[in-house]
Amino acid sequence: LAENTVSITVVGASGDLAKKKIFPALFALYYEDYLPQHFTVFGYARSKLTDEELRHTISTTLTCRVDKRENCSDKMEQFLRRCFYHSGQYGSEVDFCELDNKFKEKEDGKLANRLFYLSIPPNIFVDVVRGASRSASSPNGWTRFIVEKPFGRDSESSSELTRCLKMYLIEEQIFRIDHYLGKELVENLSVLRFANLVFEPLWSRNYIRNVQLIFSEDFGTEGRGGYFDHYGIIRDIMQNHLLQILALFAMETPVSLDGEDIRNEKVKVLRSMRVLKLDDVVVGQYKGHTKGGKSFPAYTDDPTVPKGSLTPTFAAASLFIDNARWDGVPFLMKAGKALHRRGAEIRVQFRHVPGNLYKRKFGTDLDKATNELVILVQPNEAIYLKINNKVPGLSMRLDSSNLNLLYSERYPREIPDAYERLLLDAIEGERRLFIRSDELDAAWAIFSPLLRELEEKKVVPELYPYGSRGPVGAHYLAAKYNVRWGDLSDSS
Ligand code: NAP
Repeated sequence: LAENTVSITVVGASGDLAKKKIFPALFALYYEDYLPQHFTVFGYARSKLTDEELRHTISTTLTCRVDKRENCSDKMEQFLRRCFYHSGQYGSEVDFCELDNKFKEKEDGKLANRLFYLSIPPNIFVDVVRGASRSASSPNGWTRFIVEKPFGRDSESSSELTRCLKMYLIEEQIFRIDHYLGKELVENLSVLRFANLVFEPLWSRNYIRNVQLIFSEDFGTEGRGGYFDHYGIIRDIMQNHLLQILALFAMETPVSLDGEDIRNEKVKVLRSMRVLKLDDVVVGQYKGHTKGGKSFPAYTDDPTVPKGSLTPTFAAASLFIDNARWDGVPFLMKAGKALHRRGAEIRVQFRHVPGNLYKRKFGTDLDKATNELVILVQPNEAIYLKINNKVPGLSMRLDSSNLNLLYSERYPREIPDAYERLLLDAIEGERRLFIRSDELDAAWAIFSPLLRELEEKKVVPELYPYGSRGPVGAHYLAAKYNVRWGDLSDSS
């Protein structure tokens, strides 16, 4: 194995994602000794840069974990010496041939594995895959491509993208990344459920009243609305990140932890879901707001957003899984920008205790106080279980309290970034956390008709003030199913 090499090429190396996430994640893997002994990192983009210039740019973004600072600057130096840059056009096979020559020089006759990370806008995915697969594929090892979202903007464009990629690649070479799947608490979902007797037996319509998947950002598009406006919050967050979490949460027990077994179960649950209709969603868009003497802009004040844009920056949706396990259980999703707080969480609200003795005897208002399991995915990772408890004292008073697993207390070490896990998995050929094409088709099938209808009918989003809790319509949507949205403040 020591004689294997891996060449990792970040295509779009001059861009934001490469600088912010990919190079730092590669360095973290190197620092923790997870990268193979022989590896080289290449940056590829049109910008004219030297190796030194790339190294300088990367060096400004590398950090060491708080708890592992020793030898950090030496390790950074060693890592940077293994980073190179190649300037080329994305559609040029000649330029990829030149890159291939550079690969060969570094590989020095060893078994050559090659990983391309497409950190570029989607309109050039296929050009790069064509050029790289034809002119820079490994002659004797594997060649893999990590593809970043967006994977199309509806069922048709997504199938077309898959069709084009498969003109040059087989499915096993395509690693469609959804970085939410690399997040520690999303990975932990299956552990929580399948490795603890106390949860799996409750994981069904018999005990669960509703499930909520909530994503919120406390900032707007801030001058980067051009990309966003073409997609909107439903495509940007719900159809991928939140739906992936839902599928992992709700899938049947897989045959094994093998990537294909898990993905088979995810596809099955996605295909059991009801197609969304207009009545199942509420869309919103943030408007300008002044608070404490400070004014916050409206979405349409962003100069990169077309005037009069109807693109939703907020959406709430009720989804249903028509299978025996989940029949009738609402899965409520909510995602928005420019809200009052930042975070992502999963909330599982359990049913009432039947014939509750305490309710009968003391008339305590236990209707609201049902058990709730809360998984805080970000920023402060935690798992809470809300239980009813006796308040100490001579009277019989019940209180709703939390059993807390706060990661920062229980595991006081830095949690690796999701990109580290995903890059490592792609290098190791572990496909569990990447999206297979049939999974992608099933995900788009749920959302595409709704997205088309929103655009065709020019549905006007409900305006909500920047920094608020979002449109009131989201509460009415939940109320239709007798649900109250949970909030982070309820968990503390
Ligand atoms: P970016 O900065 O806009 O683009 C990356 C690089 O691609 C640029 O440095 C540029 O390099 C080249 N490029 C940009 N526009 C181009 C065009 N129209 N034609 C040809 N080349 C172009 O993108 P990014 O923010 O790094 O994101 C990369 C990919 O990841 C995108 O698909 C994005 O949707 C996805 N993504 C980004 C984030 C994020 O946090 N930024 C998060 C999730 C997913 P040269 O001019 O040097 O060739």
